[in-house]
Order: sequence, then C-alpha cells, then structure tokens
Amino acid sequence: MNDRKHIGYIENGINLDHIPHGNAWYVMKILNLFNSHSQAGIGLNLPSKKLGSKDLIKIENRVLTQNEIDAISLFCTGSTLSIIKDFKVIDKFILELPKVVHDVIVCPNKRCVSHQHVSKFNTFVNRKDITIVKCHYCEKEFNIEDISQYKF
Ligand SMILES: [Zn+2]
Repeated sequence: MNDRKHIGYIENGINLDHIPHGNAWYVMKILNLFNSHSQAGIGLNLPSKKLGSKDLIKIENRVLTQNEIDAISLFCTGSTLSIIKDFKVIDKFILELPKVVHDVIVCPNKRCVSHQHVSKFNTFVNRKDITIVKCHYCEKEFNIEDISQYKF
C-alpha cells in the first residue's frame, strides 16, 4: 500500500492516516483547513486492509497542539499520526480516545449551564463499542454520533 501516489510527499508536517472513512471532514474543521494557508493533501475513500476504506490527511508545515490532538482523537480513535521532518517520519503514534475534551462539543441540552462556560465532556466507549460523551455540567450522556454542534 502506497499512499504517496495519491497525494504526494510532504517535507515537514503531519500525516494523519487510517482515519475512519468520512471523518476527514472533522479534522478539516478542527484544524480550520478551509481558512488556513497550510498546504494539505486530502485523500478520501482510499482502500485500506484494516478499515475497508479510509481517509488520509497530510499537512505541510503544521504542528498540532494537545487540544487539537484531543479533538481529532475523538473522531479518529485508532488513526495513525506521523510527524514528518525532512521527508522522514520522526515520530508516530496511534490516537487514543481522550478521557476528557474541553471546548470541542456543544452540549445538546439547551438548558445546560455549560453554554456559559468552556464545555467539558468525559468520554468512554460503551459495551456496544459506541463512543459516549458525558457532559461535566448536566451529566447527561450522548452518543458521539448524535452530537450535531461543535465549538470548531
Ligand atoms: Zn450539559
């Protein structure tokens, strides 16, 4: 498998691979790729032995903050993040579901006091393998797929 033929090499930056198909959109939104000057290569629906099909994003000259990594990990648990310098991978790790995310999700509970604060959600995976987010303020639990409003 060689993704270089799809979207090319990058010299310095990041390569986010094995994104569950369809979730590249979240990464583009979280990192504000539509309104930035970063050069990015985006592959959608690429063949993957592991996932069947996957998305892939490479961004030139971009470093990620821990907050950005946490937000991305919420939608890309199990994806591979590689840090590239001078065309070489100098660091590589698998994204894990963050236990807590700050300022990523808007609580669907309209009366929740979180709307006056930086939102805070605890996360976990339930027995059916669904990612659940729990609001720190109103303590309601939601399936991540039912969240429709984000802070990004
Ligand atoms: Zn809430």
